[in-house]
Amino acid sequence: MRAVPTIAVVGTGPAGIAAARQLRDGADVHVVLIAPEGRSEYLPGTLTVATGDAYASQYKTRVELAGVEVLPATVDSIEPGGLRIEGSLLRADAVIAAPGLALDPVGRATRGETVGFWDPTGAEAAAPRIRAVERGVIDVVISSLPYRCPPAPYGLAMRLARRARQLDQQIQVRLVTPEEHPLAALGPVLGDALLAGFRNAGVEVSLGVEIDPDALANGVVTAGAGDRGGADLTIVIPRHRTSPLLADLVDSSSPLVTVDARFATEMAGVFVVGDAAASPYPRAADPAAWSGTIAAMAVLSELGFDHARTPLAPAPDCFVDHGDGAYGRIRITYPDGPPPRGQPAVAIDHAAPALAADFEAAHRHWRSVRVEGV
Ligand SMILES: Cc1cc2nc3c(=O)[nH]c(=O)nc-3n(C[C@H](O)[C@H](O)[C@H](O)COP(=O)(O)OP(=O)(O)OC[C@H]3O[C@@H](n4cnc5c(N)ncnc54)[C@H](O)[C@@H]3O)c2cc1C
Repeated sequence: MRAVPTIAVVGTGPAGIAAARQLRDGADVHVVLIAPEGRSEYLPGTLTVATGDAYASQYKTRVELAGVEVLPATVDSIEPGGLRIEGSLLRADAVIAAPGLALDPVGRATRGETVGFWDPTGAEAAAPRIRAVERGVIDVVISSLPYRCPPAPYGLAMRLARRARQLDQQIQVRLVTPEEHPLAALGPVLGDALLAGFRNAGVEVSLGVEIDPDALANGVVTAGAGDRGGADLTIVIPRHRTSPLLADLVDSSSPLVTVDARFATEMAGVFVVGDAAASPYPRAADPAAWSGTIAAMAVLSELGFDHARTPLAPAPDCFVDHGDGAYGRIRITYPDGPPPRGQPAVAIDHAAPALAADFEAAHRHWRSVRVEGV
């Protein structure tokens, strides 16, 4: 009798969860899903936590999937034939790695306050310092590209500006970005809409600013040769780096791992999916889940299980916080085929309080695919 193959999946973000579920549903395989504490964090909760309107724990959950072994651990390395976890080798017939992107540290400022975060846990640590600013200038600085969820820093700036207005605080919020136009890769219409949202919220924007990401480790925010200074609080979206787990699979030109159309890497039996993989789609949940599904199907096919159905192309969908409880939404499709040849079609749902219910529904859905009746 043939032994049941073991597939190891690293990470419980959208990519890892989609891969594990596809493997479990697609064949008789042993799926081991590994993440620290066996838990998952909902990254879109970052902004609410940053302004102290929610706790990070509200955006975390344990993972319990019927038919999937969840291993609470941090993977040390990927090795031929499996994973090294706390010194022991977990043997696997294939590995699907979805560790996301790592964040560079941002040091304490030499002038003014500087905080760096881009997940709910980091936002919770920064929240008291954000709330302590009652007047003056807050800068939201995008340190470099690529980063997770392109419109989210714009949402953070609008949320902060509207919160200050509501509290009758004299705070000027400014967004600083290296891009010449917001979200340039998605065409000018979306950027124009974000700039209009900024005008309504009273946020200033500086485009085309080159920040030195290396100086940020010391809390210094430099643009070109000079220290920017001037802000009472600087919130940095840190440089996004390759996960240490995948360091051997990248070169210095990009933090993203080169993969083929099935998300296979140059290392035999190892697939990389989600934010960590070089794909022409934005760093967003639906492309991450789509890539996890594609890789799982490729693994099953390599193991001899029949898997012909190809999932539809991803349709990234990002919420944009406008503050005062209103959300906008950006929906991206690729009617002319996948990028870079196919151009994105962008539909914008303008800011409305009613979309807050959709934001909450998305959070509930996120939870429901992680905790099933076991
Ligand atoms: C502020 C913000 C707002 C966002 N809003 C939206 C939105 O509205 N819509 C949208 O589509 N996307 C949004 N995103 C982006 C979206 O959350 C990411 O694109 C998505 O989470 C990427 O999924 P992933 O599975 O590749 O990685 P991640 O979600 O980053 O998950 C990585 C997983 O790997 C685990 N891991 C890492 N290293 C190891 C290791 N060594 N061993 C074991 N486990 C490990 C982590 O613990 C985690 O479970 C937002 C992101 C942010 C930061």
